[in-house]
Amino acid sequence: MELCDRSAFDLSGLLNKGDVSSRQITESVLKRADDKEKSINAFITLSPETALRQADEADKRISAGKRLSPLDGIPVAVKDNICTKGIRTTCGSDILSNFIPTYNATVVERLLSAGAVLVGKTNMDEFGMGSSTENSIIGPTRNPVDTACVSGGSSGGSAAAVASGETIISLGTDTGGSIRLPAAFCGVAGIKPTYGRVSRYGLISYASSLDQIGAIGRTVDDCAMMLNCICGHDRMDTTSADVAGPDFLLSRNKGVKGLKIGLPMQYFVEGLDQAIKERIMKVVELLAEEGAEIIEVSLPHAEYAVSAYYLIATAEASSNLARYDGVKYGNRSGGDDADLIDMYEATRSLGFGREVKRRIMLGTYVLSAGYYDAYYLKAQKARTLIKGDFDRAFEQADCLIGPVSPCLPFRLGEKMSDPLQMYLVDIYTVSLNLAGLPGMSINCGKAEGLPVGLQIIGKAFDEMTVITVGKTCEHLGELCLNKKTVQTQF
Ligand code: GLN
Repeated sequence: MELCDRSAFDLSGLLNKGDVSSRQITESVLKRADDKEKSINAFITLSPETALRQADEADKRISAGKRLSPLDGIPVAVKDNICTKGIRTTCGSDILSNFIPTYNATVVERLLSAGAVLVGKTNMDEFGMGSSTENSIIGPTRNPVDTACVSGGSSGGSAAAVASGETIISLGTDTGGSIRLPAAFCGVAGIKPTYGRVSRYGLISYASSLDQIGAIGRTVDDCAMMLNCICGHDRMDTTSADVAGPDFLLSRNKGVKGLKIGLPMQYFVEGLDQAIKERIMKVVELLAEEGAEIIEVSLPHAEYAVSAYYLIATAEASSNLARYDGVKYGNRSGGDDADLIDMYEATRSLGFGREVKRRIMLGTYVLSAGYYDAYYLKAQKARTLIKGDFDRAFEQADCLIGPVSPCLPFRLGEKMSDPLQMYLVDIYTVSLNLAGLPGMSINCGKAEGLPVGLQIIGKAFDEMTVITVGKTCEHLGELCLNKKTVQTQF
């Protein structure tokens, strides 16, 4: 196995012992990117010089016995909607194609202080709007498992870069599933922390009440390592929660004995691919054998999640994206002699892609006088009901398990002409963002040669249980590859 195919956790141990250098790991990752980028297209910007310089600095610290953290010397890729000082940050959009931030997002600052090596900025759906990473100025990111398929979105670049060995670990963002879905599609692990757990300072906003930065890694341990680095209060983000986090690596091997795990009955009905259901139920059966108590829970308002999400997300996006007018922010179009209105119009119609424009229009509509009560307000009420469902489910269960997506990775172009079909891919992920809860996607084998993701949903600020169950599922997922299919209960 090449260095770029190993987990951050393993490599960190090897760096500690002096068995490898950060330069060797970084060179391995950059070489893989050289080989793979033509077919995968995971990066909008690669930063090899910065990476090698940071790797050499890490090696100096390590040989002086001054290693900063478990991430010191480990290559990390960052989604291109997270500001990196001096490195172009485009959000996958033409309107920000020349934007070079003058400051680092808090998460980037934390990574750099931990000694991480920044390999580049990853591809994404424009402003995070999409489920397939096909809505980007640089074109789609392909799935490393099968390049005819999409990588999932919107953090498709971050997930594909990990899956293909073009980075060891990465940062993604999740507004309605954008960490969990691409992690599931590419066969890696991804965690969306509780809203407020990780600072959003320096994250370019899509829908501020839903956006959350999180980690994508090859294993659950890698995600835990990343969380240890990026979590914590930040006074630069007024929504940042002042809640101390545990060491997420500490009790991850505790196992599931005695835990109550809920299966939301609405998540296993018609519409879910049978092969995905079977794989998940296999893992659930093994969790029961490990001593977990499996119970059925109900999320009666689950059916409203996609509608509520797409009303709230577009409403917030229409407001957040108003700033890109060619004056305050964004590339200006329309020529020097255009009047103000023509300039705004040209800037926004040329600078934004089709999906972004669709959402700005929808969002503006649902916020407009006369429609606000019928759509936006109603969606907010549905959001409260959805949150209430989870509160009740968590009175019975310590965490919930379900699918990440109703379908296996689909082929490039398959859903591009039908936005509604694309939105429905988010059916199991968006409700966590509406409720602010943590969720993790882990791989539980393959069906039809394509990766299957399993989702673990936790109580607010209880990422530790999610990680502990994730760790057991990861282990069982590997084990059950050899077991025969079990009968599903729903
Ligand atoms: N697919 C969802 C959307 O397009 C979620 C995207 C995200 O989480 N950034 O809004």
